Amino acid sequence: MDKKLITGLILAGGRGSRMGNVDKGLQPFRGKPMAQHAIERLLPQVGSVMVNANRNIERWLELAAPVWQDETPGFAGPLAGVEAGLRHCVTPWLLAVPCDSPFLPLDLAERLGAAVEEHDADLAFAVTQEPGMRPQAHPVFCLVKASRLPVLSQYLLEGGRRMDGWYKELKAVEVLFEDADAFRNINTLEELQGFDDTLPLSLAKVTSCLSGYDPDALPVRDAQRIIREFVQPVRAVEKVALRAALGRVLAKDVISPINVPAHDNSAMDGFALRGEDLRADAPLTLRVIGTTYAGNASGLVPAAGECVRIMTGGVMPEGCDSVVPQEFVTQEGEAITLPAGVIRAGDNRRFAGEDLKAGSPALKAGRVVRPADLGMIASLGIAEVAVQRRLRVAFFSTGDELRSVGEPLDEGCVYDSNRYTIYGMLQRLGCDIIDMGVVRDDPRALEEALRSACENADAIITSGGVSVGAADYTKQIMARLGDVTFWKIGMRPGRPLAFGRVHSNGRSAFLFGLPGNPVAVMVSFYFFAREALLRMMGAEAPLPLLRARSGGAIRKKPGRTEYQRGILAPGADGQPEVRITGSQGSGILRSMSEANCMVVLHDEQGNVAAGDMVDIIPFEGLM
Ligand code: AMP
Ligand code: MG
Repeated sequence: MDKKLITGLILAGGRGSRMGNVDKGLQPFRGKPMAQHAIERLLPQVGSVMVNANRNIERWLELAAPVWQDETPGFAGPLAGVEAGLRHCVTPWLLAVPCDSPFLPLDLAERLGAAVEEHDADLAFAVTQEPGMRPQAHPVFCLVKASRLPVLSQYLLEGGRRMDGWYKELKAVEVLFEDADAFRNINTLEELQGFDDTLPLSLAKVTSCLSGYDPDALPVRDAQRIIREFVQPVRAVEKVALRAALGRVLAKDVISPINVPAHDNSAMDGFALRGEDLRADAPLTLRVIGTTYAGNASGLVPAAGECVRIMTGGVMPEGCDSVVPQEFVTQEGEAITLPAGVIRAGDNRRFAGEDLKAGSPALKAGRVVRPADLGMIASLGIAEVAVQRRLRVAFFSTGDELRSVGEPLDEGCVYDSNRYTIYGMLQRLGCDIIDMGVVRDDPRALEEALRSACENADAIITSGGVSVGAADYTKQIMARLGDVTFWKIGMRPGRPLAFGRVHSNGRSAFLFGLPGNPVAVMVSFYFFAREALLRMMGAEAPLPLLRARSGGAIRKKPGRTEYQRGILAPGADGQPEVRITGSQGSGILRSMSEANCMVVLHDEQGNVAAGDMVDIIPFEGLM
């Protein structure tokens, strides 16, 4: 639908009662009035934007014009705003959105417009659906045919107030959007601050958005979500030579300065010819006027009945649009003959810019650079790239029973292995690491270690000392140094986790207090710390969850997430099959070492029968 046919309407006429009766859309959010975010996202999608507001009209006029007040009296809700909008709408369509939706989809008008056209409907509205949940309607995000105003006015006159209450009189269609977060609206001042990453965030604010939050019985996905929202990227960019960018995170899009390939060229060794010479019904004989090699343009311009011998990658001669591969032709002296129908006009020609157009992003910011990316950046002639500075992560183990490698193992002691696995996992993520050794179970030592870590690193990873039996001072000290919470997570292995942000001498760092058991350390690192560290690095690297058939039965209690160590290999029929390793105890590091994947058994899942499909995460690429 042509965007000039649509007027955008920002619905800002509410009382804002959950926000303390302030004009919600005018509240500052990320440096500007909240509604301005919605306006800026809507404006490119429509011909013009107007506002429905009932207070502070002067201030609204600074954001967008015109501004219309409700005609149905008494703050009758968003529908009264839609009515006011329709009354003054001079285009055939009106697209309404709430003022407190600063993340609204950039293809809202396009998708709703296509739906009303396809179904010849009066109205289209957005719905989203989260996995395993029922679809959720967002009726305030709707595209309405302006001529339906009388239906709406009648509904309001009869006292109707429900946003979708008048749809039964209309032909209304729903449009499914993927990104549920785009429809998030901000109802309370707490949410406003919680979402605002220009303000320091508190864990209490983040957890207040979670219904039924219980730190002593926290589902894995809630813990992951809290961590995701709380952690902030470290924004610091450096320029590095191309090869040094391997494994680093791109800080900016890499924009192609050139077309790739730069010229139309041949995909084959053969003869470049003019498509119009081709005959459907008879063989064609052409005179070869010369040769063009990859790397230099020949300057040859064949006339009708002529062709040019061309090598793969050779620049297409002017006037030529097709290449006949050499194996299709017979050559006699200066002439070649090709049978009818072996190629069609346009075959075997690569277009300039086919791989990449000049000015378009070749790679997006946030990408972790891989070998193919190095090659691609080189193919653009770019020698230096902007990457995020490496994340600095300090880590230490806690426990009086721990001995470091190289020390004698006293009675009742164990070697500190966690510092080695953590070292390995951090190295693989590309962090700068600060190994702080073993810290004794002593309040002063712990405080000193945490302060020093905090003053020197972006993030701190500790192991041990957060479980139920552990001395209470760990919690006291962590909590005293900042905003730290202690969870019991519904998972196995790895129930206890401390998470938050600590401060010392004006510096701060995110803290992950992992459990002590060696397998639990790895599991909590991979499923909580990894994503958070990547987020701090500004990287996008979601965990690749795959499906595989379970080779055997697995016992599993519903109500918690279990991470079992698995070995993935081809089964008898050649299909991938996973078997869990023998002992799954949380201290048994050998099982982790034997495994090549993790089997993820989700909260709601019960026993698995042999042959059932299960989710797995391969270690390759993770470890
Ligand atoms: P904690 O959470 O401190 O009670 O530790 C739980 C278990 O993990 C105990 O059996 C510890 O000995 C063991 N553990 C803690 N830290 C380490 C470590 N760095 N290396 C190996 N085992 C550890
Ligand atoms: Mg301990």
